[in-house]
Amino acid sequence: PDTVRSQVSLPRYVRVNTLKITVEDAIKRLKQAGFSLVEEPSVEALESGQFVQDPHIPALLVFPPGTGFHDNQLYKSGEIILQDKASCIPAHVLAPPPGALVIDACAAPGNKTSHMASLMQNKGKIFTFDIDPKRLATMRSLTQRAGVSCAQLVHGSFLDCDPEDPRYSGVEYILLDPSCSGSGITSRLDHLTDEEGSITTERLESLAQFQLSALKHALSFPAVRRVAYSTCSVHQQENEDVIQAALQEYEGKYRLQHILPTWDHRGMDTFPQACRCVRASPEQDMTNGFFVALFEKYNENVDVKE
Ligand code: SAM
Repeated sequence: PDTVRSQVSLPRYVRVNTLKITVEDAIKRLKQAGFSLVEEPSVEALESGQFVQDPHIPALLVFPPGTGFHDNQLYKSGEIILQDKASCIPAHVLAPPPGALVIDACAAPGNKTSHMASLMQNKGKIFTFDIDPKRLATMRSLTQRAGVSCAQLVHGSFLDCDPEDPRYSGVEYILLDPSCSGSGITSRLDHLTDEEGSITTERLESLAQFQLSALKHALSFPAVRRVAYSTCSVHQQENEDVIQAALQEYEGKYRLQHILPTWDHRGMDTFPQACRCVRASPEQDMTNGFFVALFEKYNENVDVKE
């Protein structure tokens, strides 16, 4: 499909920022504000004022579509972050531990950086690259509000970052969420006409070329153990095709991890390992259209190559 044309209105996803508040305390505060946590109902059955804990992403709470939080004190103080469920998957599967050395290659406005900082309990370091100074400025204020202290913002192209530079040569985890067509973002597309919404083959080709260069660059870091790749695109050219080309280039060095095994919606069946990747869509998963893959380097001493 060229674009996602969804009639589904997505639930309101709320990620508890565990740098500032525990999930337990956030739930307590939400209950004090009049919301009620329910155990049973499916997300579709949620009534106004109710919420559930997400079964896939720890610290993610799910409210009915349209639930407003912009005036809520938890939101204003950065204790909760409004973030689509699918966009929480990359940091969740990359799972950098406290103390890790990490690169967020295309980082602004920084939602995934702040998610990783949460998982790392602000211990270790995340180098966050972005080429766009305005977006980086927004990121600076959002990450400050979120209490992120382990991120070092770097203005510049990730492609120009030298993997052998002593600052980066020890990096073990890279999250790569590059610029993409955005064809999975329902709220954006709901307002577009067909003409504005269609993406030219040329534009797709140039995006895919950039995405593949950035992915190959990430895989070339000497100490890297895991690389998470994600887009909010529904196009195979920006997703499975990019992954397949990178795997071919690094044959025998990396394999794809079978991420989120309980998630039914998998990558398009375009190459044998695509089923190890995750896709998400409004119709099947009540999220924006999204794609995630996780590369893991073979450990020469332990792993048997597939
Ligand atoms: N990961 C971000 C988040 O979760 O908040 C969203 C990232 S957005 C999809 C892609 C970003 O890549 C944009 O902010 C864009 O400015 C940046 N970008 C594009 N080309 C880049 C490059 N060569 N190096 C670093 N950043 C780049």
